[in-house]
Amino acid sequence: MLYINGEWRKARSGKEAEVRNPATGERIGRVAWCGKQETEEAIQSADTAFQKWKRVPAGKRSAYLLKAASIMKEKAEELAETITTEMGKPISEARREIQTATGYLEWFAEEAKRVYGDTVPASQNDKQLMVLKEPVGVTAAITPWNFPMSMVTRKIAPAIAAGCTVVLKPAPVTPLSAIRVFECLHEAGLPKGVANLVIGPAEEIGPVLTKSPVVRKLTFTGSTAVGKKLIRDSADTVKKVSMELGGHAPFIVFADADLERAVQGAIDAKFVNNGQTCICVNRIYVEEKVADEFGRMLAAKASALKIGNGLNEDTELGPLIHHFAFEKVQAHVRDAIEKNGVILCGGKPYKAEGLEGFFYEPTVIHHANEEMKIATEETFGPVVPIFSFQDEQEVIEKANRTRYGLAAYCYTNDLGRGLRMMNELEYGIVGINDAAPVTVQGPFGGYKESGIGREGGKSGILEYLEEKYVSIRMM
Ligand code: ADP
Repeated sequence: MLYINGEWRKARSGKEAEVRNPATGERIGRVAWCGKQETEEAIQSADTAFQKWKRVPAGKRSAYLLKAASIMKEKAEELAETITTEMGKPISEARREIQTATGYLEWFAEEAKRVYGDTVPASQNDKQLMVLKEPVGVTAAITPWNFPMSMVTRKIAPAIAAGCTVVLKPAPVTPLSAIRVFECLHEAGLPKGVANLVIGPAEEIGPVLTKSPVVRKLTFTGSTAVGKKLIRDSADTVKKVSMELGGHAPFIVFADADLERAVQGAIDAKFVNNGQTCICVNRIYVEEKVADEFGRMLAAKASALKIGNGLNEDTELGPLIHHFAFEKVQAHVRDAIEKNGVILCGGKPYKAEGLEGFFYEPTVIHHANEEMKIATEETFGPVVPIFSFQDEQEVIEKANRTRYGLAAYCYTNDLGRGLRMMNELEYGIVGINDAAPVTVQGPFGGYKESGIGREGGKSGILEYLEEKYVSIRMM
């Protein structure tokens, strides 16, 4: 169903689309599949609601978000099952996603109350200078399938907290998760029109959102290619944009590191969500003298990961989302083998009875080189190459030699080196001896072509605010 102006609706054309479980291929639902007209109606509803919503006191806006968070928590198990059946991640990871999703609602409920302005010292005694913060206005949000609930709240919560209204378009493969989040917002009594949900083809809905002069802000998470197109399409109406795009994360291990911890870190940061996150490790760099040992240890742990239907409690790796993802993974592995990579484990699809989805074995490729596709392209799957290096300066240059700049990881027990790496890595997120740096109170976003703006943290809400500078002459 679509959610426009506080009502659950079908598409005007009556069209529907099927949603399938990527682990089994089974149909798990049907959703309304709308187009241009409903998107225009959603924008209209958000525009009308904005005139009232921007005047609602911050404390009240905050209360709606807290209510929605508490409703989501009550339904946590059912919501986690929706995520797993719709996009395949293990149920344990889906439960963690619910915590993050509600975490964003709660974080921004708090931040809503702390949108401070400034007073500015004037250069004349008869003037009073101030800076006010005001909501940007109607916001279009486009979300991906890999975190189908937490990406929705990471955008909707700061928008609502700031006093904006929203039209959200989720990824076509994960509309049910978005619907579940909107059910919670509806149950929390959010006034009509403040949050609207449209589901349908990106090529049809996207241009309506980007070309509309009423939409003042576009927030997007997805591939760099689509992000660039959306920035171009938003240029004519000069929208404020935030873009959370692709990444190509280096994971650097110095010989002085605790290798056990580094290996576990690499497992966590590579195979979470089956390698389908923008901060997943893409290149492991290990200091040469420990590279073979690290490779053996990593392959032993990776090959022990349990593959299966995410609904089984012991599953650690689910399916890939669709056949494009599966083909890309296979192409990267084939290419690496042709270019003299050595497969330490995996390297082929995984087959088992009852699993009709696209499963692939966790794969570690040793002796990787920069000619390989995997060295520069985002794989988005359970495959990781190991490169070796001799010294710090060399690895800094190699790690930074990419057009991406989202997340980077470094393992070392030398404090000075850790601090030097922190300063030298050209990435928006750096984990030093930490494979799981992301948290709601930290700013998430990338350098270079990995994006514009930050989500979460104290900067997250600023993306939805304008500054109004006021000069008052008192005499
Ligand atoms: P992924 O490769 O992770 O699927 P995409 O960038 O293709 O990433 O998709 C992320 C989101 O962007 C999805 O909601 C998708 O439907 C949407 N999207 C893709 N192409 C367009 C487009 N041309 N205009 C607007 N949204 C788009």
